[in-house]
Amino acid sequence: MSSTTDLHSHSTASDGTLSPEALLSHAAKQGIKRFALTDHDTTAGLAAAQQRAQELGIELVPGAELSVSWEGKILHVVGLYIDTRHPPLQAGMAILRHERETRAREIGRRLTRHGIDESYQAAKRFAQGEMITRAHYARALVAEKQAKSPQDAFRRLLGKGCPGYVASPGAGLTEAVNWITGAGGIAILAHPLAYGLTRLWLPLVLEAFRKAGGSAIEVVYGRNTPAENRKSAQLAREYHLKASLGSDYHGPRQGGVRLGELPALPADLEPVWRHSGAT
Ligand code: MN
Ligand code: MN
Ligand code: MN
Repeated sequence: MSSTTDLHSHSTASDGTLSPEALLSHAAKQGIKRFALTDHDTTAGLAAAQQRAQELGIELVPGAELSVSWEGKILHVVGLYIDTRHPPLQAGMAILRHERETRAREIGRRLTRHGIDESYQAAKRFAQGEMITRAHYARALVAEKQAKSPQDAFRRLLGKGCPGYVASPGAGLTEAVNWITGAGGIAILAHPLAYGLTRLWLPLVLEAFRKAGGSAIEVVYGRNTPAENRKSAQLAREYHLKASLGSDYHGPRQGGVRLGELPALPADLEPVWRHSGAT
């Protein structure tokens, strides 16, 4: 159950709790050899991660996880092997980050109206000067004794239909895929079974993703059940997509996943790391 490759993770540059350096050190301890940092809508953690990866002898795959809005649904597209200097990719992510800030402020206003004061300031402290996400709000609400756990905060205050809910910003699907492929990267639909898509919608999403230029899906995912891993593998076969694997690690005690604790990809699928010419 342990893999030397893990291609989905977050640092303090977005909503993870470990710095890029600490994350890489932890990856080394877990025996990981090929690792991707895929912060939400930013590559700000990659330089520090690369430095530490070199010291540790880990191959760092440069990545990011972009928020996409498609047919009223929010999807996550992971870009791997991206050239972080590609101007359209950076400009696109800058817009997404700006929209995240607008959303973060609006969440604060809504929570104030609901009787919870100063939550924006509290979330901002948790974000340590980086982007403010709902995960930071959740941690702040726990610290301020407004919620029992981050899950509780999402369930009662931050999730869809709750008093503090504000829809997530997202790029266009084709737009986001173009930023990634234009940067020499491979576009991967993250956790295809985690969007709550119905039987009717899932094929539509996969078709649209492929048509937009996406070429892989996350088959093995940290929060998948074994049955979901099998189902995702089947989707990769049906839609002729390459396969990625990643834990979506956000730090110790965040979401119950561990770095590299992943089963191997089925041998008949083409792994995304071939993109780099590796075997
Ligand atoms: Mn996250
Ligand atoms: Mn995601
Ligand atoms: Mn993620």
